[in-house]
Amino acid sequence: MAAKRDYYEVLGVDRKASTEEIKRAYRKLAKESHPDLHPNDKTAEARFKEINEANEVLSDPQKRAAYDQYGMDGPPTGGFGGFGGFDGSGFSGFDSIFDQLFGGGAGGRAQRRNAPIRGRDILFNMRIEFEEAAFGASKSFDFLRAELCCSCKGTGGKDGAKPTPCPACKGTGQVRSGGGFMVTVRTCTSCGGSGQVVSDPCAACSGTGRVRNKRTASITIPPGADDGQVFVMTGQGEPGQNGGPSGDLQIAISVKPHKLFKREGTTLYLDMPISFTQAALGATIDIPTLKNKISHKIPEGTQEGALLRIKGEGIQQLHGSSRGDLVVRVHVEIPKRLSEKQKELLRAFDQASTGKEYENRKSFLDRVKELF
Ligand SMILES: [Zn+2]
Ligand SMILES: [Zn+2]
Repeated sequence: MAAKRDYYEVLGVDRKASTEEIKRAYRKLAKESHPDLHPNDKTAEARFKEINEANEVLSDPQKRAAYDQYGMDGPPTGGFGGFGGFDGSGFSGFDSIFDQLFGGGAGGRAQRRNAPIRGRDILFNMRIEFEEAAFGASKSFDFLRAELCCSCKGTGGKDGAKPTPCPACKGTGQVRSGGGFMVTVRTCTSCGGSGQVVSDPCAACSGTGRVRNKRTASITIPPGADDGQVFVMTGQGEPGQNGGPSGDLQIAISVKPHKLFKREGTTLYLDMPISFTQAALGATIDIPTLKNKISHKIPEGTQEGALLRIKGEGIQQLHGSSRGDLVVRVHVEIPKRLSEKQKELLRAFDQASTGKEYENRKSFLDRVKELF
């Protein structure tokens, strides 16, 4: 990069020039060397950039003070190797340092134009089976990712032609209107605030410099994953700009419901009907688990809604080794459509009853007696 000229020299003003004098000098020079008047003239383009850069620094009191103090090399804390050394174009390195020093602010987007920008994250929604969440699974999937266009290498110009400063905003990305105390600054609509335009756009990307490509990724879902969980594949998102890092690929898990089981964390729930004779007499029943089934004894006199806890038959803890429990909620089913013979037997059963068999009913009847 050629050595840069002193900003005061560029604008042809004295070091003690007032802000008004600087403004006037800038307007005159910018008009003379505007790219619209010098199409395809590289020297005029470079000069126009130089004038803009000088103006951006000298018209801002904070930047001007720093420039007066440190010169072209920039403040020692800058870390970008001087005002113009950042992106090679010598156009916006200064802005990056000032954004760091003064937190951007007033200048807005146009000042940070060439600062590194991290690529955007991509959110991918993945629907998986209940068992896949419980036991883990390897999944591969396709997703769309906006990437730099190969045809133009991301410039947006045909055959990789570089964009040129936007004539509407003189490359600043902003349009000012009004005067005196009522200056309004708006983002330039011609260039969308980038300060640059593409005259002959690349056909592959319509001049955007980006295309959406289908990509395939694979992920190993660990056992114990749950609905709503997000797994992050670092750096697999959209590419950054101006040397910024890529974004992430975020995979949001949604788990399909199971036909039998429900889940809360690592606890698995199962609603299971049993017959009223099983409930009354006690029984050994087959209880389904996620993988197979197990035999389990239920005691005599098991009541509606009773909970059976089966240790370790729940879901494995995510990134852990322990497993939750299976909780079985028992529902006693009263038989319907009985045969004449079954009815006979039940009447005989009832006649043999003393009333002590029904604890709740007995205590209820006793309380009723006290009332009347
Ligand atoms: Zn392209
Ligand atoms: Zn513009």
